[in-house]
Amino acid sequence: MSAAERFDVVVVGGGLAGLSCAHETAAAGLGTALFERGEECGSKNVSGGRLYLGPLTGLLPACWRDAPFERRVARETLTVVADAASASIDLRSEKLQEATLASHTVLRATLDRWLAERAAEAGAMVVPQARVDELVCGAGEVTGVRVSGEPIEAGIVVLADGALSRLAASQGLAPAPRAARFALGVKEIVALDAGKIEDRFGLEPGHGAARLLVGDFTRGLPGGGFLYTNRESISVGVVVRLDALVAAGSSGPESHALLEALHAVPEVARLLAGGERSEYGAHLVPELSFDELPRRTAPGLLAVGDAAGLSVNHGLTVRGMDFAIASGILAGRAIAAGHASAGPAYEAALEESFVLRNLRAARHAMRFLGRARLYEHYPRAACGLLEELFGFGPEGKGQLVPGAWRQLRADFLGWQGLQDLWAAREL
Ligand SMILES: Cc1cc2nc3c(=O)[nH]c(=O)nc-3n(C[C@H](O)[C@H](O)[C@H](O)COP(=O)(O)OP(=O)(O)OC[C@H]3O[C@@H](n4cnc5c(N)ncnc54)[C@H](O)[C@@H]3O)c2cc1C
Repeated sequence: MSAAERFDVVVVGGGLAGLSCAHETAAAGLGTALFERGEECGSKNVSGGRLYLGPLTGLLPACWRDAPFERRVARETLTVVADAASASIDLRSEKLQEATLASHTVLRATLDRWLAERAAEAGAMVVPQARVDELVCGAGEVTGVRVSGEPIEAGIVVLADGALSRLAASQGLAPAPRAARFALGVKEIVALDAGKIEDRFGLEPGHGAARLLVGDFTRGLPGGGFLYTNRESISVGVVVRLDALVAAGSSGPESHALLEALHAVPEVARLLAGGERSEYGAHLVPELSFDELPRRTAPGLLAVGDAAGLSVNHGLTVRGMDFAIASGILAGRAIAAGHASAGPAYEAALEESFVLRNLRAARHAMRFLGRARLYEHYPRAACGLLEELFGFGPEGKGQLVPGAWRQLRADFLGWQGLQDLWAAREL
């Protein structure tokens, strides 16, 4: 690569945000280079693996019709866990199968590699094993990047280098990295044959399941676990608030211990029995509230996806992939419409899209999700209440309702319970 090499667009990071952007600018005929530090695109990406397509309706380019999804989610289960007991709410819904509401499980190694191929087909130069060391600036704007010591000039640079973007911070586009602004996600893949997955999760052939778990396996840390079924494997993971993990210090669990604790939940152990564990990874998830979101543009520079803090934790699920794809596409289209106006055009497009609308709507969710009672007290109380209702001892059973009502009042409808309920309106 010569020192004078110049591209219209340089994208830093080959995750879903960067690849979506590179695909758009290359398809529009702009000279585009994308640098990815990993062995190949997808090799460094850790994701739970459920992609909501509904919000992306009308935005995705045609090539996504052939995207390598794993399974369409047909069964949703929310499980609370306490003291080796568990209770679940289970949903099977035809409605959630409809195109505008459907979600699919994905494996990032496969999906990112596929999107890298589409971006290359569109004309982008996708360069793996190339870490961008720094941004190059001149006359008050970003004019390029330095890759392994070599300068590359760019009409515009797009930062898509994920959570904790060092390069965004160097341009004042990222707030100071405080633990309260991140969650830690740990994840692994458990290989299991398709028939066993369908038997154990009660699925039609080819259908998928998403199971979210909350309970004492996070040892009181705000967070939860997930299982997403792929074709021949299960994505298994735990996401917890980083500030709570740091505050727990040496008495808190190590990240791999969180995953072990989820595996030890009897319900989970049954689903995963005999599976081969692989691909362990840990990664930060941005958990900025809407009001803390950093600037996303600077002269010569746009930030997309996690690098711009665009993800949301609703409690029931972590969403970042649809935000990454949407922000990448919108940035790419804004650049294609004209370099000079790309910043304001990108901002306006984000404002009109679901991205900022959804982030604004969830602005107080993190405060509610910080409530400690959600993670041990309520799961234990729910399991206890159901044990009281369904258990018959040597005495048989007296009246069902008075005992259960007493428990319900004490555990859910006391002063603290009502406070939690009131706070839930922030979700
Ligand atoms: C455990 C876990 C579970 C999750 N579950 C879900 C889920 O079920 N659904 C969902 O929608 N979201 C989920 N998320 C969030 C989602 O994974 C992210 O929001 C999404 O991956 C962001 O995409 P991105 O392209 O912005 O960043 P990334 O996917 O992080 O991609 C950034 C890329 O930049 C590269 N890079 C970094 N620095 C450099 C550099 N200096 N030079 C060159 N390349 C560089 C990295 O190698 C990486 O490939 C989860 C996250 C975690 C951690």
